[in-house]
Amino acid sequence: MSEVLILGTVALDTIQTPFGKAENALGGSASYASFSASFFTQPSIVSVIGKDFPEEYLDLLKDRKINLDNIKIEDKTFRWSGSYEFDMNEAKTHSTELNSLATFKPEVNEELKNARYIFLANIDPDIQNSIIEQVKNPQLIVMDTMNFWIDSKKEPLLNVIKKVDVFILNEGEARQLFDTPNLVTAANKALELGPKTVIIKKGEHGAIMFMDNKHFNAPGFPLETVKDPTGAGDTFGGAITGYLAKTKDHSEQNFRKAIVYGSVLASFNAEDFSLNNLSKISQEDIEERFNQMKDIREF
Ligand code: AMP
Repeated sequence: MSEVLILGTVALDTIQTPFGKAENALGGSASYASFSASFFTQPSIVSVIGKDFPEEYLDLLKDRKINLDNIKIEDKTFRWSGSYEFDMNEAKTHSTELNSLATFKPEVNEELKNARYIFLANIDPDIQNSIIEQVKNPQLIVMDTMNFWIDSKKEPLLNVIKKVDVFILNEGEARQLFDTPNLVTAANKALELGPKTVIIKKGEHGAIMFMDNKHFNAPGFPLETVKDPTGAGDTFGGAITGYLAKTKDHSEQNFRKAIVYGSVLASFNAEDFSLNNLSKISQEDIEERFNQMKDIREF
């Protein structure tokens, strides 16, 4: 049985960066997050796609032993299109077509109701809440979001944040959601809502974690080739959830390792479009970069 439930979008993405273009590529927060988590555990995706979704993309996920039983097939797949300029830290959204996501009501099967680890990746907060209500006794709930939902569903989003253990968001979203330019203030406001751990992603500059009155600063891995950072945040969150599910150790010390694995997986993801690079790397590649990260931090 799969212990790890990953809720999010399974999408068709059209992306333009200064280094190339991808059309109708495999994307979506759940695709990236589950692919990344699959290096540590065997996750199950909860999502919706349409009849237009290519079979070969499902095969790519199945090849990583990701369970797809809880993906509903309805009319049309969620589509996102965006671009990046030379500052690759900020995606510009051109269009978001919710399609079947607009009416999606997730129903988790009996087996997955016993999931122990949940990653509520970026998706409508009402759908995130419905998963919290369906899973019986989770040990750890991790969540992510993005500006689209802060703009359109702030109240439901704040309600979900109150119910989770770990809240991950990027720096721009942290400033927007808590109406402050200061990230420490934003993190403290997030902690006051309920989560024990708040992680603020800073793109290529890594991430800061706030937990147990301490904070930890993980660097980004210095990359020479960044072709497409789409999905880096989802890859980061998926690796953190997967690593914690594998080790079952929720100490601050182990969260630090989880975040470094998150940065490592996100760095591999950014080296190519879609899941192209993540589908090429091995466990050894991950360990090697993890060890290089230790050297980078030593002083
Ligand atoms: P990231 O770069 O980590 O923010 O994630 C990008 C992925 O999120 C893309 O593959 C998109 O398909 C997906 N995405 C974009 N907008 C949304 C949204 N509003 N809700 C959920 N997923 C989205």
